[in-house]
Amino acid sequence: MKRRNFIKNASLTGVGLAVGNTLIGCVEKTSEDKKTVAAATTDGSNGSLPLVIATWHVIDATTKAMEVLEAGGTALDAVEQGCRVEEANEKGQSVGKGGLPDRDGNVTLDACIMDKHGNCGSVVYLKDITHAVSVARKVMEDTPHVMLAGEGAKQFALSKGFEAEDLLTDASKKAWEEWKVKSEYKPIINIENHDTIGMLAIDKNGDISGACTTSGLAYKLGGRVGDSPIIGSGLFVDNEIGACVATGLGEEVVKTVGSFLVVELMRQGKSPQEACEEAISRIVNKPNSNYKNFQVGYIAVNKKGETGSYSIHQWFSMTKFQDGVNEQIQSDYFNKA
Ligand code: ASP
Repeated sequence: MKRRNFIKNASLTGVGLAVGNTLIGCVEKTSEDKKTVAAATTDGSNGSLPLVIATWHVIDATTKAMEVLEAGGTALDAVEQGCRVEEANEKGQSVGKGGLPDRDGNVTLDACIMDKHGNCGSVVYLKDITHAVSVARKVMEDTPHVMLAGEGAKQFALSKGFEAEDLLTDASKKAWEEWKVKSEYKPIINIENHDTIGMLAIDKNGDISGACTTSGLAYKLGGRVGDSPIIGSGLFVDNEIGACVATGLGEEVVKTVGSFLVVELMRQGKSPQEACEEAISRIVNKPNSNYKNFQVGYIAVNKKGETGSYSIHQWFSMTKFQDGVNEQIQSDYFNKA
């Protein structure tokens, strides 16, 4: 089952919190969903290279990335190509074309990419261009900058041959119109509409790269930028140590510089799993943390090819392709109460 179908029939469990003008909620999965998610917990075992991991259930994306890796391609090419699969998938309402808009009806994308040398590129508040991750790569490779925003990012993309198109599909427009009527500008942000695609890969040479791409929180305030394009928050890669990518409520990830934190914890000797758990504990153990009302999830890999994933709430998952097995792995989580 695709991750977009996860909450089709799900019922809201009742948690909700006003954050600014936005209601953040968590969603209980259906029994069908529970069956489709592999029962295994996160695998910390060593495995052969190459490997690719990604946030959520994105089998098609990891398949594409592995094709690149098996053909001898770089981890950088693999994560870009993998993310592009989800960006082009119009049914996905949190990434690329078909992403849910902000409260004014504008679809705005955030993305970043980071290579084995520590080079990085990112775009924020990008409109009308589907493949934000590829624009981020162009920023990294063809400019002296790390980040381009808004109209400047769009003009840069156009100058590089990207085509402008309307990213607001009929389905997302309809959802936005329904939201406006029913929710009176208080959208319920749940698992369905906060799921960035983050991807990490190690190629046959043992080199690591990562990328992530998102349309951000649905019905966000115009101009809002999340964690995903912020190097160190949404993504961090250190080719000597490992890499991490985040999903969930971006504001909470930014406040703890989450992905950089996970990599630094691995540098200090923690396994990817332990590092993800520690980074989540930094969020939930803050004084007055209202973690019950939002989700954050991390996935990480170290230089040995060990992986980890952890989230605040249940039903975060990682897709992992290694040793010929491409599978969704249910993440362990903090809030078992
Ligand atoms: N982290 C993203 C953001 O806050 C949302 C997501 O993971 O879907 O923009």
